[in-house]
Amino acid sequence: MERPYLHAFYTPDEANKPMSRVNEAVTSGSVKLMLFLPSGKKLWLVVGNDNEYWADPELGFCSCKDFYFTTLSGGDECYHLKSIRKALEENRFMSMEFMDNEYIQFLQAIAEDSANLLGRS
Ligand SMILES: [Zn+2]
Repeated sequence: MERPYLHAFYTPDEANKPMSRVNEAVTSGSVKLMLFLPSGKKLWLVVGNDNEYWADPELGFCSCKDFYFTTLSGGDECYHLKSIRKALEENRFMSMEFMDNEYIQFLQAIAEDSANLLGRS
């Protein structure tokens, strides 16, 4: 879907916002890596003001609304994915280790979060 009229609302200041949001997320330690052992599976978590979102930068997936409504329709990546990429670049993220048998519970939590999120619109 094309929404060219939206550009009218973006001033240069507005355009800088996603980047500072990314910086803020990275510097405040909102980006967390969950590492499952022994398999080495990874899940990323970005903690926001009112919610937390699951993302996978390798698959280019995020559980947030922006991802569904913007990224998937050909728009820019959401700030969670950008934050994770930046955190990876700068090696600034908190890493937590879990057992493999907890992985499925996390996946279920993600699925429920996503369903709730979309249902709320
Ligand atoms: Zn996102």
